[in-house]
Amino acid sequence: VPVFPYPLSSITKPQKISMENNTCINKLEGKVAIITGGASGIGEATAHLFAKHGARMVVLADIQDELGKNLSISIGSHRCTYIHCDVTDEVQVKSLVDSTVDMYGQLDIMFSNAGIISKSNQTIVDLDMNHFDDLFAVNVRGMAACLKHAAGSMVEKKVKGIIICTASVLGRFAAPQHTDYCMSKHAVIALMKSASKQLGQYGIRVNSVSPSVVATPLMCNLLGAEATEVEKFVEPFTSLKGVVLKAEDVAEAVLFLASGESGFITGHDLAVDGGFTY
Ligand code: NAD
Repeated sequence: VPVFPYPLSSITKPQKISMENNTCINKLEGKVAIITGGASGIGEATAHLFAKHGARMVVLADIQDELGKNLSISIGSHRCTYIHCDVTDEVQVKSLVDSTVDMYGQLDIMFSNAGIISKSNQTIVDLDMNHFDDLFAVNVRGMAACLKHAAGSMVEKKVKGIIICTASVLGRFAAPQHTDYCMSKHAVIALMKSASKQLGQYGIRVNSVSPSVVATPLMCNLLGAEATEVEKFVEPFTSLKGVVLKAEDVAEAVLFLASGESGFITGHDLAVDGGFTY
């Protein structure tokens, strides 16, 4: 019987599970999903995975029209489409949900993922209040508008839908800078929990994912670094040494929350952080 503490030599390097080995496919057969911030990064990886798992239609919603349209074409127009939607504009969010329901019958999954990050280190004494408003308009107000209209449609159509928000490890603990971003992501988790309490009676589940650091355009621009440098940046903080978090890993967590495999999970923030926040 192994006795704690185990010798370090008994700990093997974690192996990545290849998608090719994942025999359980079609976890989202027939589902209609919206992904906000779907043109890039985590949204893009999730769009590929949702389509691969049999979603009937993945609606990408973003403000980067060319990227979004090209992505929908590369996934295949029979499975994926693009709609311009600036989540800071509630009229556009309502129209996104309404047109999805008009075209595809109902909305089963809302992945509310669009977000931006602080321009520079936003410490409390250096807080740029204009930037604060811009950031909250996307990360908090926009997120709330997406949940409001997605939930409204699900309740009206009696769809036992699923809502997933993208929060962050900075929604789970405080960093010594990025005050505004940190506040916004704490608010996302509060929004998710509040909505889950209200919507459970309709069979609607609401959860969030909290990634640590993924080398997406958002993070590369913030750190002014290439993807490989960004990946090294977070390693000291994670327990899984030698494993780098990719957008595809976050997408797998989103897929779990979007599928029947998480059927009794609601009001939960799932950290995808290699042990960063524990
Ligand atoms: P990304 O920049 O690759 O993707 C974000 C997408 O959101 C972009 O396509 C962008 O055009 C879109 N977007 C921005 N403002 C929008 C608006 N007003 N309306 C609609 N779309 C808008 O970055 P990402 O890393 O994939 O970010 C996705 C989410 O993940 C964000 O909420 C971010 O805060 C969160 N997150 C990222 C990391 C990370 O390390 N990359 C870590 C934790 C959380």
